[in-house]
Amino acid sequence: MKSSRVELVRILSRRFPEHVVRAFSAVPRELFVPPEYREYAYADTALPTKNGQTISQPSVIAEMLTLAELRPGLRVLEIGTGSGYTAALTYEITRAPVVTVEYDPELCAEARERLKALGYNEILVVCGDGGEGYPPRAPYDRIVIHAAVPEIPEPLAEQLVDGGVVVAPVGSEHSQILEKYIKKNGELVLVRRGSPVVFVPLRGRYGFKF
Ligand code: SAH
Repeated sequence: MKSSRVELVRILSRRFPEHVVRAFSAVPRELFVPPEYREYAYADTALPTKNGQTISQPSVIAEMLTLAELRPGLRVLEIGTGSGYTAALTYEITRAPVVTVEYDPELCAEARERLKALGYNEILVVCGDGGEGYPPRAPYDRIVIHAAVPEIPEPLAEQLVDGGVVVAPVGSEHSQILEKYIKKNGELVLVRRGSPVVFVPLRGRYGFKF
């Protein structure tokens, strides 16, 4: 199925707020997917990137960015850069520096190049274990985890401001629920459960134990 960015934006606008949908009109997803999948770039589905990883489904990303209550000026830490697509969408909403961490060195280097080529100079792509967060730029107003986690990694909770929001797919390796937490008096409180989803698992120290 071939579909256009305009069509995708029209579909998303039925379910998601305008500030989120606008980001999808601004970012060319076709430049983030491998060339062989380019004709599917605007279908509402996940697509393979490299090394067994994926670029997430647009409506799932839209739900996460909506739950995260992004707005201009907020400082966001993103875990799981992948192609860099969600980092670009995040920046289009906040227009403030975004830090994004990717575990796979090859994906990390490619995303860094791609975002630079597109002029996203305020997105810092860090190669490493996102479960550890990125202390040099902490604290963050929002943290969005784009890989499945058994629970929110402790370092991330620590690097969030009080009153800040974390959104993540939480569950098992095979299925998760999008969850939203708010940090209150130093503790993360679950405030909302969204759609069931399937994300690739977080790797590294805070991933699933095999
Ligand atoms: N947001 C991405 C897609 C994310 S898929 C996009 O828009 O394309 C999940 C990504 O999380 C994969 O690229 C995977 O390599 C990465 N990942 C897995 N474990 C990680 C970890 N511990 N730290 C940072 N990234 C991780």
